[in-house]
Amino acid sequence: MNEPVKGGQSVEVWEGDALLWSAPLEEIPLPGDAGGEYAESVGPWHGLSKNGSASGPLVYAGYGTPRELASALSALQAKGVDTEDCIALVQYGKLFRGLKVKAAEEAGCSACLIYSDPVDDNGVLSPPYEEYPAGPARAPTAIQRGSVQYLSVYPGDPTTPGQPAYPNSTRLDGGNIPGIPSLPLSMANAEKLKLLAKKGAVVKVVNKGGSRSFPEGMMLIQKHLVNDHVMPIWNAMAAIPGHIADEVVVIGNHRDAWVMGAADPTSGGATVHEIVEGFSVLLKKGWKPLRTILFASWDAEEYGLIGSTEWGEDFASWIEEHVVAYLNVDVAASGSRFHIGASPSLAHLARSSAERVPHPTDPGRSLWDATKDSGIYTARPGFVLSPEEAGMFRDERLSWVDEEHSLRTSMPSSAEYTAVSALGSGSDYTVFLQHIGVASTDGGFGATVSDPVYHYHSVYDSVGWMERFGDPGYHRHAAVAKYLGLTALRMSDTIILPINTTQYAAEISWYLQKVEAIAVAQSFEFDFSALRESISSLQTASVALDNEKVTAESELLKELKKLKHRPHACLAKLGNFLKRLLGMHPEPAQVRVPKALLKAVKRVRRVNKQLSSFERAFISPEGLRHREWYKNVLVAPGLWLGYGATTFPGLTEAFTIEHDSELAKSEAARLVLLINGAVERLEVKAAGCHSA
Ligand code: GLU
Ligand code: CA
Ligand code: ZN
Ligand code: ZN
Repeated sequence: MNEPVKGGQSVEVWEGDALLWSAPLEEIPLPGDAGGEYAESVGPWHGLSKNGSASGPLVYAGYGTPRELASALSALQAKGVDTEDCIALVQYGKLFRGLKVKAAEEAGCSACLIYSDPVDDNGVLSPPYEEYPAGPARAPTAIQRGSVQYLSVYPGDPTTPGQPAYPNSTRLDGGNIPGIPSLPLSMANAEKLKLLAKKGAVVKVVNKGGSRSFPEGMMLIQKHLVNDHVMPIWNAMAAIPGHIADEVVVIGNHRDAWVMGAADPTSGGATVHEIVEGFSVLLKKGWKPLRTILFASWDAEEYGLIGSTEWGEDFASWIEEHVVAYLNVDVAASGSRFHIGASPSLAHLARSSAERVPHPTDPGRSLWDATKDSGIYTARPGFVLSPEEAGMFRDERLSWVDEEHSLRTSMPSSAEYTAVSALGSGSDYTVFLQHIGVASTDGGFGATVSDPVYHYHSVYDSVGWMERFGDPGYHRHAAVAKYLGLTALRMSDTIILPINTTQYAAEISWYLQKVEAIAVAQSFEFDFSALRESISSLQTASVALDNEKVTAESELLKELKKLKHRPHACLAKLGNFLKRLLGMHPEPAQVRVPKALLKAVKRVRRVNKQLSSFERAFISPEGLRHREWYKNVLVAPGLWLGYGATTFPGLTEAFTIEHDSELAKSEAARLVLLINGAVERLEVKAAGCHSA
């Protein structure tokens, strides 16, 4: 990891021998922002960014997608500007920041500046609303720090992909990190910079070593990050041993923050602590979970999911064998809208937990109802975004949502749309879901366009902001704690794991419809029939397993009922006795276990193994093309999204990125192979009750 050298960052524009402007790269302490006294403790910079300086013509390229960069550069070239060593100026939003730097690097830029545009954090929140701390609008000096790791290639310690990072590990040089420097800019800085660029001032750039003349529209970025080094990080973990010691539910959130991190991650940390408190009350009352519950407090998430990824890489085979689900919370409260992302097999569980928790502030409504909530602030009268400002991001996002929705609503009626989204990346579930194949969930309250601006990764993500704007009264924190605690309890204490493979099989058929539409849009004639057939066998096998779930559980309950009538069995001891049996501990000597009961227990254990290993079926050992670390063939972070998910990533990218029908064939064949493997895992071994 690296650390900024104080005073080592600058962005300057020169005219002749005169310094035209030097960007104030600082977040100033604001009176009234509780926590803001730490404003100067961590300078604005990008984690894992490249050490060095750069100079060149400035090119503004929207969100910094490869397409926007290409068209911005060719527009400049058409004006006769030599774009070699251009410095890209792009705005936050749409894709993970590290991928903007990657796109700029691949487009031949010498550096990348990323600024916070008010359009993306709710352009509506400009006047008449006052700026934070007086009001809900953006503090113009707020700067978004953050990692610029090339997340969709692999996460974790950049120098040890796929392997745990020990002090004596063999390390790569570079890896998934930028080859060009980058810096974050505030909205105030970016406005000034755009103004200078618009004026077309004759700008000269001076490197610290001497003076040079450059053509129009140039600027200098200078940066020093000498502090690139290997340093220790600390994951903190605690377990509540369950009756079934070898089935483990993991609940995790990260602990590191860019500055104070009131929302990111402390709102998540506070909810996990509430769950620990709640479970400790249960423990004092004599409760012991059926399955083991493991709490994880991850370090170095902000640099690139390092704590969780290294732990996952270190203990992959143990996790494969024992972890039944991973429940993540990162930001629990930063706005009015609740959202859940999950593996489709956990979508019902997560949604129904949210339906059972009261809304944080509205009596009579549920937490799930908050998935449709918006904040109270409205656009100022007459406020209109220019097409460029409003344009691409929102349109694309809307059309994507519409497309998703139309695909889902045209599904067969047996398939239920849960409104729980697929997980891409950007937080600590990544190693579990994408690398090892553990069903995962993530969720919390986020901000909408009519919420107070959330100063993400800024000094103003402070307790002052949280208490006045983010979650006054901490009701949202409490609701998320109830939701996640309930989900964890149900995961740990139900006899049959609440993992829904039939929902998963239905969603896979929607993934198919989506990729079919993509193939058509890209003018491919492609035969999806083998894939369609394998998905339909998966659905059949899953429905059979659903029946087996019911039968296995009721068999067990029936045998236990018989036990009630045995003279030595007393009702009060039944619960614990069952749990000991499920845990396959040696049974208490005074109780002779009837053969039929033992058989029923084994049947339940087998079904649970089938359920917990289901997601694993989609792990392809060779991994995705050009990013082998990502092994889940059903879902991956979009190559140029980072946070957002791409379903059937290999097949989809064969059409959208590689434009290669032979590749598409082999990706479809790989999907068929793995889906057929999943079918085998689900098959009910009805006659197999005699095998342990
Ligand atoms: N959640 C952090 C972010 O969005 C880290 C993500 C990552 O680097 O993988 O900046
Ligand atoms: Ca590693
Ligand atoms: Zn976070
Ligand atoms: Zn963060």
